[in-house]
This record gives sequence, structure tokens and C-alpha cells, in this order.
Amino acid sequence: MQFKEVIGQQEIKQQLINEVRTDRIPHAQMFLSRTGTGGLPMALAFSQYLVCDAPNESDSCGECPSCRKAAQLIHPDIHFSFPAFPKKSGKPHFSSDYIQEWRKAVAQQPYQSEYDWLQFLDAGNKQGNITANECREIIRRLQLKSFEGKFKVQIIWMAESLGKEGNILLKLLEEPPADTILILIAENQELILNTILSRTQVKSFHDLSIDDIKEALMQQDIEAERAENIAFLADGSFHKALELLKTTSNDIFNWMEIWLTASMNRQANDLVQFITKLSGEGREMNKQFFEYALHFFRECLALKFKSPDKVKLTLKERSLAQKVWQIGNFDRIARVIPLIEERHYHVERNVNVKYILMDLSIQTEKILRGKM
Ligand SMILES: [Zn+2]
Repeated sequence: MQFKEVIGQQEIKQQLINEVRTDRIPHAQMFLSRTGTGGLPMALAFSQYLVCDAPNESDSCGECPSCRKAAQLIHPDIHFSFPAFPKKSGKPHFSSDYIQEWRKAVAQQPYQSEYDWLQFLDAGNKQGNITANECREIIRRLQLKSFEGKFKVQIIWMAESLGKEGNILLKLLEEPPADTILILIAENQELILNTILSRTQVKSFHDLSIDDIKEALMQQDIEAERAENIAFLADGSFHKALELLKTTSNDIFNWMEIWLTASMNRQANDLVQFITKLSGEGREMNKQFFEYALHFFRECLALKFKSPDKVKLTLKERSLAQKVWQIGNFDRIARVIPLIEERHYHVERNVNVKYILMDLSIQTEKILRGKM
């Protein structure tokens, strides 16, 4: 993977490149990055940059034999440890037992979550961990000379999974062998032992911007408007954006428009038709509709107190929001939000969707028009 394939996080990319170019690379680093913000992709791009035969000032070359091997996760000097579980219960296990699966899963989606990874392994309800044996194996292999004469890199993904066993690595983290770089990736700082944290240089990843997510989605041939919509809902996580891509329908805005128009104008027939149709779409789509409705009303409210460029609504959504403002005022629109939150909660708990939608429609209309 190259830096140019990592979404956003420009400051961290630049910092890593500067460290390499000025020969001041912290030998133990902690990438703190919550799901979907790019800790693993960044570690992959950084390690490829470290082993590349012809890196330039902004990226690895992407073409040399070292880059090719790094890109396929088969470079002999780039090692991976990650959560895993015994293939047979009671037997010791190592990350390398699953290296084939790891290569496939990461090639498929480097923005994967730990849950995705364990699902990929058909873990069922087994927990993954990084064991004491794995820690000793890390120490052993990093004592060996590098195969290709440059850096040896050890990536530890989901360093939370080390638990107490992480203490085995303390000496290694303090004084690694020459030309050895350790990159630990974690999502939750609180689950990392302080003894480990204090021995690493921490790089904190921030949430991805809406523009970065939108652009990354468009590079996957998602049309601009849909990409923008998903980016608004993704909470700064590309992982969440990919989840939304799987579940949100293109038509979610249309659903919203039909629903609001029918409710506001008390068009009973249209409303019944809408409710029958939406409830027939299945629970996932129903939940999606409620989440979207929440987003829409929150941003609708934001139109009054945020600068226009900060409001996460597309042009079509803005024009629908204007119609809501023609009927309601700030207090009334604000009162619709907890109403939707409550109904969303009920949908998740399998209460009859038709009933919830009908009730929500009637109440929303009354509240917005100031009748209750
Ligand atoms: Zn290269």
C-alpha cells in the first residue's frame, strides 16, 4: 500500500516521511486510531516506504521488487501479529497460523475492524488475542538479520489484544535490535498497558473529514451525491462509510421526502401506502430510515445556528429542510428529534414498524404545526 492510497491523515503521513528522510525514526510507535480512520493502512504504507528501493519525497515508488512484495504482504522483513485463536482448542497458536487469511482479508479491506477480521476467520464467538508465545516469537524473529538488508518492521495490529502479555515486549520496545521498527496499532488507549504506552511514541489519528470520505467513495465509482450523503452519516470513519454503502439504499432521501410530504399535508392514502412499502423493506432498511430521519432533523435544526458550509445536507435535502422550517420553528423541530430517537429505539427492539411509523407521522405533524 502506498501513502497516496491512505485516506486523509496528511499530517501523520508527512510526519512519518520526515522521520525517514531525516533519519530520526522512533523505533517503537503507537498508532492510536479508532476503527475506520486508517491505522492499519498507514502502517502498511509506512512499512512499504521503509523497505522501498527508491522512495521519493512523498511516497514509496510502488514498482520496485520490495514495494511489490510489501504490497502483497509477503515482504520477508515486514512481520505481522494480530488477534487470533487456537486452530485446535488447547494448542498454542501464532498469528502466522493465519497469515494466508490475513493477506486475503487485508487485500480485500485494509479498513477492516477486529470484528470483520474475526468474522473472516469464522471465529463464531471466539475471542482473538495475541499470546505470550506470539510475543516471544516476535522477539526471536527480530533478533535475526534482515533478509533484504534494510529495515525489519513488526506491525502489531490491535495491540489491545496483548493484554498483560504485552509486558514480555517491554525490553524489546526499549531497546530493539538495529534497524528494527515496531508499529503498534490500537483503537482504545485505555486498554493498553501504561508500561507499553510509555515506551512508544504515540501518533493519534483524527476522524476523517467528510471531503476525504466522499472522495474515497467516489474513487470507488460511487456517484457524487450518494458519496456525499454517506460521508455525512459516516462519523469520520471510512469503515462506517463502507457499512453504510452496503445497507443504505440510493432512495433513502426519496423515502424521507415522500414521508414528510404525506405527513405534513395529512395525505392519509399516501401515508398508508408509504408505510406499507417501507415496512415491507425489512428491518435493516427500516432502522436505516430512522437513523437517516434523525440525521435529517438534526441538520435541519443546525441550519439556524451553524454556518451553511458546516451543515451536512445536500442541496435536495436543504430544500426539503426549508419546507420543514416553513411549518415549524426551532423549538418544535427540536422536539421532533427525541421523538424519532425513541421510535428508533423501538424499531431496534422489534416493535411493529407499521404502528411506529403511523404514530410517528401523526405526532411529527402535530408537533411541527404547534398542535401539541
Ligand atoms: Zn519501491
